[in-house]
Amino acid sequence: MALSSATDSDGSIHSTFASRYVQESLPRFQIPSRSIPKDAAYQIISDELMLDGNPRLNLASFVTTWMEPECDKLIMQAINKNYVDMDEYPVTTELQNRCVNIIANLFNAPLGDGEEAVGVGTVGSSEAIMLAGLAFKRKWQNKRKAEGKPYDKPNIVTGANVQVCWEKFARYFEVELKEVKLKKDYYIMDPVKAVEMVDENTICVAAILGSTYNGEFEDVKLVNDLLIQKNKETGWDTPIHVDAASGGFIAPFLYPELEWDFRLPLVKSINVSGHKYGLVYAGIGWVIWRAKQDLPEELIFHINYLGADQPTFTLNFSKGASQIIAQYYQLIRLGFEGYRNIMGNCAANAKALSDGLVRTGRFNILSKEIGVPLVAFSLKDSSRHDEYEISDHLRRFGWIVPAYTMAPDAQEVKLLRVVVREDFNRSLAERLVHDIEKVLHELDTLPSKIAREVVASLVDGHPELKEVKDLGIDVTQFKSSAVFNEIVNSQKAVKAWKKFVAQKANRVC
Ligand SMILES: *Cc1c(COP(=O)(O)O)cnc(C)c1O
Repeated sequence: MALSSATDSDGSIHSTFASRYVQESLPRFQIPSRSIPKDAAYQIISDELMLDGNPRLNLASFVTTWMEPECDKLIMQAINKNYVDMDEYPVTTELQNRCVNIIANLFNAPLGDGEEAVGVGTVGSSEAIMLAGLAFKRKWQNKRKAEGKPYDKPNIVTGANVQVCWEKFARYFEVELKEVKLKKDYYIMDPVKAVEMVDENTICVAAILGSTYNGEFEDVKLVNDLLIQKNKETGWDTPIHVDAASGGFIAPFLYPELEWDFRLPLVKSINVSGHKYGLVYAGIGWVIWRAKQDLPEELIFHINYLGADQPTFTLNFSKGASQIIAQYYQLIRLGFEGYRNIMGNCAANAKALSDGLVRTGRFNILSKEIGVPLVAFSLKDSSRHDEYEISDHLRRFGWIVPAYTMAPDAQEVKLLRVVVREDFNRSLAERLVHDIEKVLHELDTLPSKIAREVVASLVDGHPELKEVKDLGIDVTQFKSSAVFNEIVNSQKAVKAWKKFVAQKANRVC
């Protein structure tokens, strides 16, 4: 969905180099009436894309931004294959089945001799979660119907720190999300409270292996043990789903002893993003069920338009085959050893970054050593400058480090997050700490955010003198200073930039 507020002066796209090929500019929102040469189209688009950030410096995202050239080659070779044509591309289908089985075994699915795992490749964890959620909802409804009980008020129990896809699932498929609220200094789902919240309408408890906010693993084992007890007392059989979007490719390699997966009897399904620590470019996720009976047969469609009978359980029909092939490449190319080395490296780099930040003496670290390799940190003292300002200033050095607030009820906590991916090496970690120190130093010399806002309002010709008085800030002191001039200039620059961006912005979600 393109949410565009952009209106270029004449609603067209101009491109410097492409003017060597074409003389007319292109309309922005209308299909051009005439064709243009292929090199012109290439030039126009690649020039415009230069304004995107550099994915390798995008420390906001878990999603893979680097793969080996050999895998890039395989991806390009399969770029014209539609995955859904299983009868035409039986080898691709076989590779997906191998991936499903490899991942199910990594997650300790209780498979008998020669028994195949139940699972499917998806576009990402979001689709995987929709499918897992639908399976739970249907199973619960069937049971309730059979018991002659109402089945119109299903709910899921999660922590308030769930990723947005759970809220999407809840809204799109009409399931209530019952969230266990966070609190200061405790940023994951509290297992005791979660199990207390379970009622007869709960279709599953969703635990997260690697909270999006601070990477911390939720205690799935404790949820499992408490829920077994509760199920025994109530006669219900409330199951667990594990959202292992990011942790699913970390825990098996770094923390093999940690029991979070199908070793726990109530865990009936698990999702993982192939495009996060599965080390494949965007567009692949997986959902694995514990056993056949955990995926209601009626959700599986059997189609025959493309040849033989094909079972499908996905939200979309067509999709590219490349990502599945790329996942298979990574699994066999790296093997257990390779994944363990890479994840170990990420964890060590996260530790180095975290240590560097601690050494500045200015930050609290909110991520844990055992968890997803990321560093979440907040300022010890944010009375003068906050995490958002640090994030803004870091952009000047090319770094994209998001600042955000914690989930309810810990919204007052602001934090910055650096996701450590395979391509984030030690020297980048050192450079980042260095640049953060520079930013801190710069911010120290600037008046606090609030003082700047006051000065800015004076600059606008709307002196809020009362407010200034209330704040006890002596504005005259700014007016004569070099800092004041600097602020005036930077405010002007910010305004001009905002105006420019507002015109250019073409946001896509
Ligand atoms: C990233 C993430 C998701 C969504 O995964 P996509 O693969 O981006 O759809 C869901 N849950 C958690 C915990 C995540 O980190």
